[in-house]
Amino acid sequence: MREEPPARNLAGLGRAELAAELASLGAEPFRVRQLWHWIYHRGACDFAAMTTLAKSFRDMLAGRYRLERPRISRVAAASDGTRKWLLSFEDGEEVETVFIPEEERGTLCVSVQVGCTLHCTFCHTGTQRLVRNLRAAEIVAQVMVARDELGEWPSPREERGLTNLVLMGMGEPLYNYENVASALRIVMDPEGLAISRRKITLSTAGVVPMMRRCGAELGVNLAVSLHAVRDEIRNRLVPLNRKYGIAELLDACRNYPSAKNARRITFEYVMLKGINDGEADAKELVRLIAGIPAKVNLIPFNPWPGAPFECSAESAIRKFSDIVFAAGYAAPVRAPRGRDILAACGQLKSASRRSKAGAWARPAA
Ligand code: SAH
Repeated sequence: MREEPPARNLAGLGRAELAAELASLGAEPFRVRQLWHWIYHRGACDFAAMTTLAKSFRDMLAGRYRLERPRISRVAAASDGTRKWLLSFEDGEEVETVFIPEEERGTLCVSVQVGCTLHCTFCHTGTQRLVRNLRAAEIVAQVMVARDELGEWPSPREERGLTNLVLMGMGEPLYNYENVASALRIVMDPEGLAISRRKITLSTAGVVPMMRRCGAELGVNLAVSLHAVRDEIRNRLVPLNRKYGIAELLDACRNYPSAKNARRITFEYVMLKGINDGEADAKELVRLIAGIPAKVNLIPFNPWPGAPFECSAESAIRKFSDIVFAAGYAAPVRAPRGRDILAACGQLKSASRRSKAGAWARPAA
């Protein structure tokens, strides 16, 4: 017996793809908007729930398509309220998605690749080789799963738990630009998930040639993983620096469109004991970013098993922060969140590739 080809999953498609599917069925164009509303505003997982559509049309859709989320294969909850989901895609590859609740906002940290090609020496994800890029639908699905888990459908207009999105999980967003851009267009659509570009931050280790496009086409906030102020040290920490050095990277930041509109660029700076955390480093940082509307996020190094670095002393972090602050930049020290479940910055790594499952639990059935 010949096997039927698997039905296409409509969840995660963009407007044009959805329109093309519906056109192939001979459905009228206004159906696109109706389906969009059900998928991305209401979060429907089932065609039967789409009560504004004629029953015959729902049945036809159900006969040809699926509406599915990736499987949650593990969940973990940290003592500080941070939640982490390990999602498993159709080919069995996995990524982690982390939700970080705070007083005034809730931030979802999504992954864009399985593994990473950058191999930054202080990053746990970097010890895992790149397996593949995520498709746009797989990036969007992380937001949808979080909304499911937080019970936030229909997409709330205000009083949301999930308010902000950061592309700071596994992978380098500007090395998977097309899929990231398609995903963000879906996520930002005001008739659906409706997370505005002002609430979205894309973090890059500095893929300079893609930064301009990202600014012009997406207009999201930019975070740059700087981590060092001298090329020779940054080369060691972020090997990509050998391709695009600090001067070139900061030029691209100066030209990032939002910087011209005084929207601040975030510089991420991981605090590594004895490597990049001296007073001279802080002073050089201030000199380098002069003229860029900026904020410096100091990230205490989050350790992972076998990591070749240590976190800077609290006093060094404070001194560093004071110097940057005195020069007129916000320089908050990022409170490590979810460290007890290895959900903090740089600790993400697919559990299937870890030797031990650690703090993971199986999801409740
Ligand atoms: N590739 C992109 C997106 C990943 S963002 C980028 O590099 O920006 C993940 C952030 O966590 C980056 O700023 C990264 O440098 C930081 N990070 C990685 N490992 C870390 C660790 N062990 N402790 C603290 N921060 C870390």
